[in-house]
Amino acid sequence: LIEAQQITKRYASTTVLSDVDLHIRRGECLVLVGPSGAGKSTALRCLAGLEKLDAGSVVFQGETFVTPTGTRRHLGGAIGMVFQQFNLFPHLSVIENVVLAPRRVRRLPLPEARAKAEQLLDLVGLANRRDYYPHELSGGQQQRVAIARALAMEPTLMLFDEPTSSLDPEHTREVLRVMKQVVDLGMTVAVVTHEMSFARQSADRVVFMDDGRVLEEAPTERFFADPQTERARSFLSQEA
Ligand code: ATP
Ligand code: MG
Repeated sequence: LIEAQQITKRYASTTVLSDVDLHIRRGECLVLVGPSGAGKSTALRCLAGLEKLDAGSVVFQGETFVTPTGTRRHLGGAIGMVFQQFNLFPHLSVIENVVLAPRRVRRLPLPEARAKAEQLLDLVGLANRRDYYPHELSGGQQQRVAIARALAMEPTLMLFDEPTSSLDPEHTREVLRVMKQVVDLGMTVAVVTHEMSFARQSADRVVFMDDGRVLEEAPTERFFADPQTERARSFLSQEA
């Protein structure tokens, strides 16, 4: 579905990604793991077309999408992204947050957009909070709204960047449960996370990054049972 080919990304003189190849197949759940500073967030942002590349390209649905000269195509919401920070619009209610992009970008009529939003809030377990404002919700609830908001654009690909890292264990569980539901719906998903139990349960494939490179890429069971590099082994022993 999407493929990064030998992408390199630098900030000033620091090379953050060097020659990274990454692909995500339709319908699969890919989990990206690795130590802090490995370049995981940068890799996701590059896939989403949010970063200018120094070399390489990203091909999405068979078309070259990002190159060092820029991001070629307006996606109209085909790639949804959920970040560590929830980034909800604070002055809009829950339902207004979810309805906004489909209305603005896709020109969906209000009744349709609301019906869709209510369905998604139901999916993330927040139908009864639709008229609340973000500050009236817990972090986990806000993150679930952020997921509903991303899904409202009916993306082809969902990218999650450590969506639970600022949450306590209980809210983490709630959000992971919703993410698992999204995976079980058959959506194509890539997740950066330190939640190894989520990776074991939901990932089809795991990519291990360190120091701006992909060091390992393997089916989930094989990655956990038999990591090939010393770095991955020591990473896993620290995370366990
Ligand atoms: P973490 O697990 O801590 O989120 P990560 O694997 O997501 O780490 P990135 O956020 O992709 O790592 O960052 C990789 C490197 O790029 C880091 O060394 C970071 O300092 C650097 N970096 C990221 N964004 C910028 C930026 N906007 N300007 C300069 N350097 C940056
Ligand atoms: Mg990160």
